[in-house]
Amino acid sequence: MRLGAHISTAGGVSGAFARAVEVTAECMQIFTRNQNRWASKPIAADEAAEFRRLRKETGIGPNMAHASYLVNLATSDAELERKSVEAMVDEVHRADLLGIEYLVFHPGAHMGAGIETGIRLIAQRLDRIVEEAGDDSRVTILLENTAGQGTVIGNEFEHLRDILAAVRHVDRIGVCIDSCHAFAAGYDLTSGTGYEQAIAALASTVTLPKVLAFHLNDSLRDFNSRKDRHAGIEQGKMGLSPFGYLVNDPRFAQHPATLETPEAEAAYARELSVLRKLKRQ
Ligand SMILES: [Zn+2]
Ligand SMILES: [Zn+2]
Repeated sequence: MRLGAHISTAGGVSGAFARAVEVTAECMQIFTRNQNRWASKPIAADEAAEFRRLRKETGIGPNMAHASYLVNLATSDAELERKSVEAMVDEVHRADLLGIEYLVFHPGAHMGAGIETGIRLIAQRLDRIVEEAGDDSRVTILLENTAGQGTVIGNEFEHLRDILAAVRHVDRIGVCIDSCHAFAAGYDLTSGTGYEQAIAALASTVTLPKVLAFHLNDSLRDFNSRKDRHAGIEQGKMGLSPFGYLVNDPRFAQHPATLETPEAEAAYARELSVLRKLKRQ
């Protein structure tokens, strides 16, 4: 497993590499635009070139961009749909410009329309996004599993399976598994048996070749709480065991996996060293 972190892009996207090196990240996730606003400034050509140069120089990757939290591809509201699709196409373009492999996004909330309707809408819009992004795009869009708060879709691996089954451009779509979200959604990763059951559930739904990245977060909230509250490694209810299983799992030996508590970036270096010590020699 390639261990990294979600890194701040304050001062410009290419600045993330220096911070990533400082915390010993082998891969990273970034926001390429303000995650809480619809409007975004284009990335300047020289900034993109510098990002690609630093990628080569540092060897940090594969990398992920995380889409805006405002995006909801499951919405039944026409205005939110238009803005969400437009924002996702822009996210794909930005990731392509920077040479970022993966764009991670939350499948969305159906807001009362029902899970089946939500899944159908997500799949339709993903196809539109892939088509609008164009044939030259190299980015793979990753559905992130969720804690299942409210009407959010993606807490059951079956939801992700059904979205993959409904998209036409399935070769451009994969899955990112967030350990905190899985635990909060009722997948108990804390025992060896629970971990193997969760991975077997993934294998029989989305299939393991579709699992392309991980978010390594502990959970502030209880098992099966359906609440999405990340905690740093050793700071939550999960303990170290799930991370021990993950970092030693040969099925995920080449996968990028990032810590995702950017509000505590100062703790990343220590947390990454804790994870590396869990690796069996
Ligand atoms: Zn996320
Ligand atoms: Zn996550």
